[in-house]
Formats: sequence, C-alpha cells, structure tokens
Amino acid sequence: MANDQDIHSKPAKSSEFSKFGSSGIRGVANTEITPQLALDFGLAIGSVYRDVVIGHDPRIAGEMIEHAVISGLLSAGCKVLKTGMVPTPTLALASKDCGCGIMVTASHNPARYIGIKVFKDGMSLNTGQQEEIEYLLENKNFTRADWKNTGGLGVMGTAVKDHSEIILKNTGSSDLKVVVDCGCGAASVITPYVLREMGCEVITLNSQPDGFFPGREPEPVDETLGVLKSTVKAAGADLGIAHDGDADRMMAVDNEGQFVSGDKMLAFFAVREAKKAIAVPVDTSRVVDDLLKGIKISRTKVGDVYVAETLKKIKGEFGGEPSGAWIFPKVSLCPDGIYAAARLVEIVENEGKFSELLGSIPEYPIKRYAFQCTDKKKAMIKIAEKLKGLGDINTLDGVRVDLDDGWILVRPSGTEPKIRITVESRDRCDELYKKAEDIVKGAIA
Ligand code: MG
Repeated sequence: MANDQDIHSKPAKSSEFSKFGSSGIRGVANTEITPQLALDFGLAIGSVYRDVVIGHDPRIAGEMIEHAVISGLLSAGCKVLKTGMVPTPTLALASKDCGCGIMVTASHNPARYIGIKVFKDGMSLNTGQQEEIEYLLENKNFTRADWKNTGGLGVMGTAVKDHSEIILKNTGSSDLKVVVDCGCGAASVITPYVLREMGCEVITLNSQPDGFFPGREPEPVDETLGVLKSTVKAAGADLGIAHDGDADRMMAVDNEGQFVSGDKMLAFFAVREAKKAIAVPVDTSRVVDDLLKGIKISRTKVGDVYVAETLKKIKGEFGGEPSGAWIFPKVSLCPDGIYAAARLVEIVENEGKFSELLGSIPEYPIKRYAFQCTDKKKAMIKIAEKLKGLGDINTLDGVRVDLDDGWILVRPSGTEPKIRITVESRDRCDELYKKAEDIVKGAIA
C-alpha cells in the first residue's frame, strides 16, 4: 500500500492523467502532468480550435506547463494570446472573444499539483467537446501545420480590466469594511481592487501571488481560514472573503468571525437570485428545497461543469456547489469567486448585518469526509452493493440513498484519489454517517 503513495518511484501514468475529466486534467507537476503531456494537449486543442487565449495561476509549474501547451498550439497552426497570471473566471470571460480559452491551474489542490481547464464562450467545455479532445489525446490524432503556417503568439493585456468592469457594472457601491484572504492565489490581482473600486475599506491577507501558497492551503475551508476569522473579528470588519488558488471559488466569514458553511452560503445566494430555476449538485442540502418553494431545483452530477451545463439548459438564474463555486449566469457560466465576493458585499450593504441575515437560514446537520482510495472503481462496486441494503439508490453521481429523515451520498472524487461521503439528517446524522463510514472503510480495506 505504501508504495502506491510514492509516485516519485514510478514513471508518469500518462494514460490516467491525460483523462480529460469534468475539471480538465490535473495531477502532480512534472511527474503526472509533464511538459510532454501538455504539448500533446496543446496539439489536441489546436487541432480543433484556431484561436486560443491562455493564462495561468501563480503555481510554480504554471509557466512550464503553459509554454508546453503553447508550443503544441503553435505547432497546430493556432493564433494564441497570453493573458499572463489571471484567475480562472477572468480567463473564462476572455474566452468569449476567442475560439477557446485554456487555464493552467490546479484550482484548490495543494501547491505540488498543476492542471489544465478549457473554456468556450465563457463556460467549461461540455461533455461532447471534452470527449472530442480526449479522443484526439488518446489517439495522438493531431493536425500539424506545415512550417510556414505554424501559429503566432501575442498578448491580451486587458483581461483583468475587462472582468473588473463587468463586475462593477453589475454591482452597486458599498463602504463596508472587508477582509480579503486571497490565499496567495490569482485573486490577488483583482478582488481587493474591485472591492476598493466599489468603495469598500479593504484589508488584505495573503494577497501576494506565490505558487508555494505559504499563507495557507489553497482550499478555502473552515480549518484553513483561522487568520481570516480572527482578523475579521479584531478589525471589526463587516465580513471576510476567501478564495481558492484560481479564484473560481469564494467562501465567507461573517462579522462575528464565524466561517459560513458552503451549504449556508449556497442557500444565502439562492434565495436572493432564484426567480424560476436553479441548479445544484446531488450533494446539496435539503435546505434549498425547503427555502425555495415554487422554484424548479435541478440536481446535477457533482462538478461545476455539470451545474453550468444544466443552468444553460434550464435557463436558470443561479447555480452553486457547497464547495464554494457560485455561478451567476447573467455574468458568466463559469463559477466566479470575484463576482460572488462583490455580490455578497452588495447584499450585506443593502440588507444589514451578515450574521443576522445568515440567522434566517436553517442549517441541517450534514457531515462530509473523504477517504484516500487508489482503486475507486473497485471500491465503488462494493459500496453500491452495501448501500442497496439501506434503501432506494440513485446513481446520478456515485450512489445516493434517500431516507425519510435524511440521505447518504458516497461518490468517487473526479479530481483526486478519494472516495467522498456526504450525510445529511436532522435527527441521526452521526448514526447514518457511521454506517456510511463503515461501508466505505470495508470497501477500501
Ligand atoms: Mg478553483
């Protein structure tokens, strides 16, 4: 078992890491995600799209991978524009003016990871478009230009300015005091400036881009945001904002220094944005169903790509994931942590104290946990068999069992070697969680 963890002792398994999933390609830089793989990726994209905008987050391997992707694109004869270091939602917006957009990022994963996400018309590639790229990658079926038709490289210097302007056009002014923790990620170049432009007094934490993420882990969760929570309280701020490494996610801290859970944040936005329809993943709390009577709530597979695809289909006004990905289709179909931060500030400015606004949203006991698992497929077969014994199962994504007083969801992570458990129940959350945990532990042992 121990050897499986030591990826340095093994050659890169390009077949596994070249799998172009819902979040693109992701893995450890230079062992799993190599320049060779990135070159092929550029060739595959360049075989389909003729002009491409590309950017990267501050990760150490970002430029190495970006340059390899660019070589592939140029070899295929593409016209390529570089935005430099930008957040993912900024790059996604820039993709609206090009054939497609490529973001070199590993999102919220630890610093050693790197990855590639692709956008078209402001949203992630849909399943059909992903499969086309995956087919080309697997078969190395690339189109190469002859020597005189290889591509050209230029610069797009306005991506951050364009994104900021769209956000400011869609939000009002505010003189709130806000602490922003960019986690040393890509948000450092935009969120503090946008909020200051709105009129806020902004205190920044970890707002110098640094690919080692020395301030905290890039995933903005309760455990990683201790400094933000204490700073909000000490400064007497109205709220705190935290982003992941590429700023498609945003999480918040209230005026009392309390972390706001993803389920609560989702419901908080949903009740204000929903008019007819919203989309949420299958692991979302039943709170949204109870609060949004009369609104059509579509449940999707876990992953912001599926939420965005569904939102487009149902013409919904809002979509979100408890992980902190909030989609406001009037701005973009890419989760936009920066717009979400500005919108949150606008709401608190107009409606009153953040902690009091949150008080009106119930929170059902919910428990989430992830277990390391290298053979997810094998484990999930065993897990499905066991869960069938508890009640009716739904296999939209992983296996979900719905009971009268709660539900259990066990699903393989799309981006990491992990099996995730989510359990919600008003009265017996711990009991149901223990059941799920025993099943998962038994299957991965
Ligand atoms: Mg992200």
